[in-house]
Amino acid sequence: MVVVGAGLGGLAVALRLQQAGCEVTVVERLDRPGGRAGIARRGDYRWDTGPTLVTMPELIRETLVAGGIDPDALGMRPVDPLYTIEWEDGSRLVFPRGRDRLLAEIERGWPHEVAGAERLLDRLEPLYRLLLEVADRPFERLGDQLALLPRLLRLGGALPLWSLVKQHVGDRQLREAFAFHPLFIGGDPFRVPAVYGGLVPLQLESGGWYPDGGVWGLVGTLAAPLEIEFGARCARIVRGSSGAVRAVELDGGGRIACDAVVWNGDPFAVDRTLGRRERRLCRRSLARPSMSCVLFYFGFARRLPRLFHHHLWVGGPMRPFVRWATVGTGGRRAGPAEGAAAVSRPPISMYVHAPARSDPSVAPPGGDAVTVLVPVPNLDRAAGVQGAAAGLREEVLHALERITGLADLREWLEVEELFTPLDFRDRYEAFAGNAFAIEPTIFGSGWFRRHNRERRVPGLYHVGAGAHPGAGIPGVLLGARLTARLLLDDLERSGLLRAQGAQAIRARGAAR
Ligand SMILES: Cc1cc2nc3c(=O)[nH]c(=O)nc-3n(C[C@H](O)[C@H](O)[C@H](O)COP(=O)(O)OP(=O)(O)OC[C@H]3O[C@@H](n4cnc5c(N)ncnc54)[C@H](O)[C@@H]3O)c2cc1C
Repeated sequence: MVVVGAGLGGLAVALRLQQAGCEVTVVERLDRPGGRAGIARRGDYRWDTGPTLVTMPELIRETLVAGGIDPDALGMRPVDPLYTIEWEDGSRLVFPRGRDRLLAEIERGWPHEVAGAERLLDRLEPLYRLLLEVADRPFERLGDQLALLPRLLRLGGALPLWSLVKQHVGDRQLREAFAFHPLFIGGDPFRVPAVYGGLVPLQLESGGWYPDGGVWGLVGTLAAPLEIEFGARCARIVRGSSGAVRAVELDGGGRIACDAVVWNGDPFAVDRTLGRRERRLCRRSLARPSMSCVLFYFGFARRLPRLFHHHLWVGGPMRPFVRWATVGTGGRRAGPAEGAAAVSRPPISMYVHAPARSDPSVAPPGGDAVTVLVPVPNLDRAAGVQGAAAGLREEVLHALERITGLADLREWLEVEELFTPLDFRDRYEAFAGNAFAIEPTIFGSGWFRRHNRERRVPGLYHVGAGAHPGAGIPGVLLGARLTARLLLDDLERSGLLRAQGAQAIRARGAAR
C-alpha cells in the first residue's frame, strides 16, 4: 500500500501498518519527512518550522510502540510552565501544569476571578473527555455526529467557546487566556464550538514536553524504520473497473501498484488526484480551509531576557485581530492585485517559541533561536496579505522589544528567515495557503472533515490534519490510530492482510 505524504500523520499510520505486516511505501514530494514539522538551519541556528508545543507524550510513546520502535529511543523532558501569556499593558499569566497551580496563578493577578475560573474548568473537563472519546471513533455517517448532539448540547459544547468562557469569567484578558487554545489548530475562539475548550484541561493534565532534538527529533525517530521515496509527488490515484484503488501515478510517469492509498496530503488537493466523478463524490462539503500564518525565524547573538520557552503576546483586544486573521478583508474576497493597504489590521497577537531555554544546542553559545508565529488570513480570504509581511516584521520586532525590555534588540539580530501563506501553498500544496488544513467549526469537525476511510472510493483512506479528528500532533496521531484500525479491519475481512503479512515475512526472511 502507498501512503502519500510523510507528515506526522503519514509517518504514524505507515509505522502502524508496517508493524502489522503490510508492505508500505511512503511517497513524499519534498526531500525530507515531517511535512509542516520540518527544520530550518542557518549557520549554528536551528528552528523547528511547524509544531513546537508538544502535549500528550503518552500518545507519542504509544505510536512508537505500535510502530515497533523502543519508546525510550526518544527522550522527552517536561516544559513547565507550559507558556506565559503577556498583554500589551505588561500583565502576565503563567500557565503551569496542573489545575491547582493555574488557579494559584489566577489568584495572584485576578483574585476576584478564581471562583469563576474554577466553575469554567468544571465545565471544560467533561468536554475534554468527550473530545477524547470523539477522537477514538470514526465519523463515517452523519448519523454518528447527530447521535452526539444531545450530549454536546447538554454540556454546552456546541456554544461558541468565547460564550462559554464569558459565562464564568468577567475579565477580558482572562477570557482570552481561556479561549485562545484552538488558535493552535486554526480555530477561531469566537466561533469554534466550546468542545474544543477541552484543550485547556488536556494541557493542564498532560503538561508540555520537549523531545530530544525538538519536534524534528520526533520526526527522525518516526521516519527511521520506513521506506520513503523523496521527491516523489503523487499526481493521480488510479482506480480499476470496480472503482477500487489500483495504483498511484507519480509526476514524471512512475507508477506504484497498490490495493490501498492513505492520503496525507492536503484535504482539498486529493480531489485533483482523482478523476472527474470522484471529484464530485469528494466535494468540499461545508469544510473551509483554515487561517494561515506568517512565521519569522530569528537568530539572536544573545539570549533574550524575560522570554519563556513558549510565550504568547496579545498586542490588543484579541477579538478584532482574530476576526482579521480568519475573515480577512472584512469577509470580502480580495483580488490578487490588492496589496498590503487592502489588509488594514488591528494590533497583532503572536506566539513565540524560544527553545534555547530547554535546549541550548539550537543556537550558538549564548545565542537564541526564536520563532514567531502570527496568524493571518488564508489566500482565499485576503490575497494581499502576502504584501503585509513587511509591516508585520516591524510590529513583531517591536513586540519582542516590549517583552524583553531590550531597546537594542535589533542590533543582536544575526540571521532571519520568513515563511508566508504562499510558502504553505507552494511547499505543501496547501489549498489557499492554509496552515492547519480545515477550520475546526461545527461544519468542519467530525463527519464534515475527511473521513478516515473514504467509503465511496474503496481502498482510499485519509490521515492528517484534514482528516478526523483534526490538526495538532495529538490529533494526527489519534487519527493515524483510527485510520490504521479501519484499514487493517478491511484487509482482514478481505483476506489481504494474511497475504500481505506472508509476503512481508518472506521478504524479511530473504533479507536475513
Ligand atoms: C506553524 C505551525 C505551528 C503549529 N504548532 C503546533 C503546535 O505547537 N502543537 C501541535 O500539536 N500542533 C501544531 N501545529 C499543527 C500540526 O503541526 C499539524 O496539524 C501536523 O503537523 C500536520 O500533520 P499532517 O500529518 O497533516 O501532515 P503535513 O505536515 O501537512 O504533511 C503533509 C505532507 O504531504 C506531502 N504531500 C502533499 N501533497 C503530496 C503529493 N501529491 N504527493 C506526495 N506528497 C505530498 C507534503 O509535502 C507534506 O510533507 C502547527 C502547525 C503549523 C503550520
